Amino acid sequence: MIQIDGISKAFGGLQAVDSVHFTIAKGGITGLIGPNGAGKSTLFAILAGFLPPDRGRVLLDGEDVTGLPPHTLFHRGLVRTFQIPHEFSRMTVRENLMIVPPGQAGESLPHAWFRWGRVKREDRAVGKKADEVLAFLNLTHVMDELAGNLSGGQKKLLELGRTMMTDAKVVLLDEPGAGVNRTLLNSIRDAIRRLNQERGYTFCLIEHDMDLIAQLCDPVVVMAQGRVIAQGAMEQVRANTEVQEAYLGG
Ligand code: ADP
Ligand code: MG
Repeated sequence: MIQIDGISKAFGGLQAVDSVHFTIAKGGITGLIGPNGAGKSTLFAILAGFLPPDRGRVLLDGEDVTGLPPHTLFHRGLVRTFQIPHEFSRMTVRENLMIVPPGQAGESLPHAWFRWGRVKREDRAVGKKADEVLAFLNLTHVMDELAGNLSGGQKKLLELGRTMMTDAKVVLLDEPGAGVNRTLLNSIRDAIRRLNQERGYTFCLIEHDMDLIAQLCDPVVVMAQGRVIAQGAMEQVRANTEVQEAYLGG
């Protein structure tokens, strides 16, 4: 689905991503792990069009999409979530879902407000979809809360919900489990699994929680210092000495 072909990115003298090649297979959940500073988030930013690479290509369904802006990639079904959730804190949870248009993510607040009047008046279908998403994620009981009042874990679920309001095909998740308690982590895990199995979403998942990775992901790609140092089934990469050193040394 996504082919990453020799992607490199430097910040000044720092080679954050260094000739990375791997494939995110259609219909799968690919894990992306590695110590802090390995270049994982930078790679996601490049894949989703937020940063231009210095070298290399990104192919989406065989087509070169390198350097296309985020909204264009979004239209083609590629969305990312952020390590730090980007909810609109002064809107309710349900409004946060309803405001996601079927063609844009990560847009500016003024645009979102501008559209909001229209959404409220016209779009019952959007409301129905939002209610489905709330039920799917077990967020119905907080739908009228301001999003800013949610716990960190609930914000992560809401962020996943915002991707469900779109026609996403490939979702890049940056640390969906970070700072999340065990109960909510299980909800997030179940939501990802169901979106994958029941709705055919393709995922690539950056995560430090190795249990979550082992439960969800195959294959697992390991990055360290900008490079891919191993990939394969979790058991394989766990047994890899270079991987063990990267974690112990990092
Ligand atoms: P990871 O997500 O694997 O922890 P990142 O991709 O966030 O790693 O960062 C990789 C390296 O690039 C780190 O050393 C980080 O400090 C650096 N880096 C990331 N973004 C920027 C930026 N915008 N400007 C300068 N350096 C950056
Ligand atoms: Mg990161």
